[in-house]
This record gives sequence, C-alpha cells and structure tokens, in this order.
Amino acid sequence: MEPKRIVIIGAGFGGLTAALTLARHSLARHAYQILLIDKNPYHLYTPALYEIAALPQEEKPASTLKTVVTIPLDTICARHHGLTFLQDALVGIKERESCVILRDTGTIKYDYMVLAFGSQTNYFNIPGLTQYTCSFKNFTDAIRIRNKIASVYAAQSSIKVIICGGGASGVELAAECANYLTTLASHQNSRYTHQIILVEAAQKILPGFHEKLRIRTEKRLKKLGVILKTGSTVKRADTRTLFLNDETQIPFDICIWTGGIQGQDPVEKLNIKLSAKKTLFVNMYLEITPRLYAIGDIAEVRHPRTNQILPASVPVAEAEAKSVAYNIIASVQGNPQRPFMPWQQYPFILALGKKYALADLVVCRISGSPAWILKLLVEFRYFLFLLPLPRALMLWYKNIRAYAAND
Ligand SMILES: Cc1cc2nc3c(=O)[nH]c(=O)nc-3n(C[C@H](O)[C@H](O)[C@H](O)COP(=O)(O)OP(=O)(O)OC[C@H]3O[C@@H](n4cnc5c(N)ncnc54)[C@H](O)[C@@H]3O)c2cc1C
Repeated sequence: MEPKRIVIIGAGFGGLTAALTLARHSLARHAYQILLIDKNPYHLYTPALYEIAALPQEEKPASTLKTVVTIPLDTICARHHGLTFLQDALVGIKERESCVILRDTGTIKYDYMVLAFGSQTNYFNIPGLTQYTCSFKNFTDAIRIRNKIASVYAAQSSIKVIICGGGASGVELAAECANYLTTLASHQNSRYTHQIILVEAAQKILPGFHEKLRIRTEKRLKKLGVILKTGSTVKRADTRTLFLNDETQIPFDICIWTGGIQGQDPVEKLNIKLSAKKTLFVNMYLEITPRLYAIGDIAEVRHPRTNQILPASVPVAEAEAKSVAYNIIASVQGNPQRPFMPWQQYPFILALGKKYALADLVVCRISGSPAWILKLLVEFRYFLFLLPLPRALMLWYKNIRAYAAND
C-alpha cells in the first residue's frame, strides 16, 4: 500500500517545528510519511543575521559564516524515521486533487499539507527602493551589506548608512552596525567616521512592543550614536539619496530597507484568496481548507479576543506549528481538532550591540548582559531541538565566536 503523505512547504521556523513535532509522534505507525520541502538545502537562523551583516570582511569568509547561520536540512531530517527532506520549490497547488506542484519534481499528492514558506520584503511600490536599497531577509542580503560597508570604506573614510524600518530587525541591525563601525574606527585611530540613521514611518520605533522596552531601546540606540528619524515616510530613493514625505532629502552610501514584509511570491499562483499583504487567511484550526494548513509569516492569524494580527516572529511561527502538528495527529487518530489559542503576547529578545540585549518575557523585562545570556541560552535550546548534543554545541560555539568578533 502506498504510504499516506504529510507535505510541509518551507523549512523555516514554522515548517521545521511542524515537521519535527510530527516526526517525533511516529506517524509512520499510521502509514504516514512526512515530506519536508524547501527551495534551499538549509534552515536559516534569522535571529543571528544582523551579526553577519556587521562583521569585518577579513574576520571570516562568507563560506565560513554561512555555517554559522544555516543548518543543512539533510542532517536535521536524517535523524528522524519517516521524515524526508526534498530540495525543491513550490510553484502551485491543485487543491481539488490534493496535489502540490513543485518546480523540479512535478506533481506530488498529499493527504495533509502545511504551507510555511514565509515572507519576503515588501517595498510598497515606493519608487527606487528595489533598485537602490539593500533588503535584509536572508544570508545573501547580510553578506551584501557587509561587503558594501567594506567597499565604501575602501574608497573613502566616512560612511552614511540609512536603515529604513524601525521594527525589530531594523533596530537590531542599526545597533550592530553602530557597534561595528565604532569598533572599526577605534582600530583605525578614528580615521573612519560614520553616521547611522534609522528612519521609521510611525511616530515611535518598535510599534507593537511594550512602551518600557521601546524607551530603553531608544536610549540604547542614542547611546550607540544612531540618529532616530520617526514619523517619516519614505517617498522614493535614487542612487545616493532618500526622499521623505516631509521633503527632507538624506544622502547615503548604503540604504537598507527593512520597512515591511508580505507573502512570498508563489502565494499569488496558488489560486487562494489573499490578504492585502499577500498572506493566507486561515480558520481557528489554522486551516485554509480541510487538511490544508498555513502557519508562520505566510498566514494571517488574528487573536480571537483582540482581533489583532499576530506578529511575524519565531515564537508565533513555532506555536502555530505545534498547534497544526497536534491537529494533524488528532485527525489521523480520528480525534477532534483543537482551535489555536495564541498567547496575548509572545516573548522577544532584542540584541542591541555588544553583549547587550533587552528581553520582554511578558511577565517581566530584563536588560543588559543577563538578557544577552538569555538570548544565547534560547539559541542553544533551539539548536538542541534540531541537532544532537555535540552538533548543537558546535554550532552554538561557532555562533558565540562570530558574535564575539565585534564585541
Ligand atoms: C533579519 C531578520 C531577523 C529576525 N530576527 C528575529 C528574532 O530575533 N526573533 C524573532 O522572533 N523573529 C525574528 N525574525 C522574524 C522571523 O525570522 C520570522 O518571523 C520567522 O522566520 C517566520 O517563520 P516561517 O516559518 O513563517 O518562515 P521562514 O522562517 O522565513 O521560513 C520560510 C521557508 O520557506 C522557504 N521557501 C520560501 N519560498 C519557497 C518555495 N517557493 N518553495 C519552497 N520553499 C520555500 C524558505 O527557503 C524558508 O526556508 C527575523 C527576521 C529577519 C529577516
């Protein structure tokens, strides 16, 4: 008898958590195979990307750094009976026939499917952004930013960096860039000067974050020399200038856009109704239609009490993944599904240069090096979820060494 199949598209935080949670429940006994599909051969650890973007070029080659933030999916999946990884890209779904269309493999049948293919940068059709700014979503983006900083400094002794978007990734990148450029200047006897400007459309940075955390972050950024320009909407960009709605023009050497996200490209080809941000609507079980689920950044999930859309973050993607895994297991075993019950708020740790972080743990907030150590411990716990102890330790050690290069 042909085994039944649970197909998961996207091996990011959501997809991988769903795959591993399902694999640990030995669904193979029920003749189910889990097929995890990703267009890349690796899982990307995004919370460490800002470190890669702000590391001296001579410190570590890109190939070495790649092993710090990416984990081969073959290695992760090989440990689990009934879980297979396939490198391929989703191009479409034939929902009526329960089939997924992949770029290289063609059509595959599924019994359950989880869409977890994440988000991409949203430029909101603002003229010049795609041509003249760098995005900050993946490893290639991080390396491009790092190389650009190096090439500007090779040609001149001052650098002007604009980071557009005062959300978590823009704030972390601004702090780490400030740290990096200050360290560089001190090594070069202050021959180098720099200016970092963080532009945010809202009146305050970190919209949606706790007020106390936001105030502390502002203080920290100012201490690091980052100039905050809030309440400023970007109108357009050209090769070297950013134009704001208040008619301000800011010249730059590097402009990085972290101003928004939307659903990944293939979502438009799926023939499924989309939100304005090209995300997928789901019901309380995180289903689009029966046996077809969406989780993580690609899903528009609202809190049942507040009706607020849940933020795009790792803890949210993981919580949704666990809920979907539970519901698939329940369904396979003939039990009723359980509605997804999100927390009112999810914990978040912001790394803000050197060994300094701010952690909002919902019940309390901590700052400075204790929050930094907590970030490292959370990281280790996650690596241990994916890998056996020796490999998790090795990866963690590599990460700590990369972090230390700038501190
Ligand atoms: C620079 C940066 C830093 C961040 N830092 C933090 C942080 O510190 N804390 C936090 O909570 N959140 C952070 N986030 C947000 C967090 O990374 C996302 O919310 C989270 O990764 C969402 O998980 P996901 O599974 O939905 O998508 P992702 O983790 O993005 O995974 C999507 C996967 O789908 C794959 N994929 C895409 N298209 C296709 C296709 N067509 N076919 C097959 N596979 C495909 C991709 O290769 C990827 O592996 C950060 C994001 C960025 C960009």
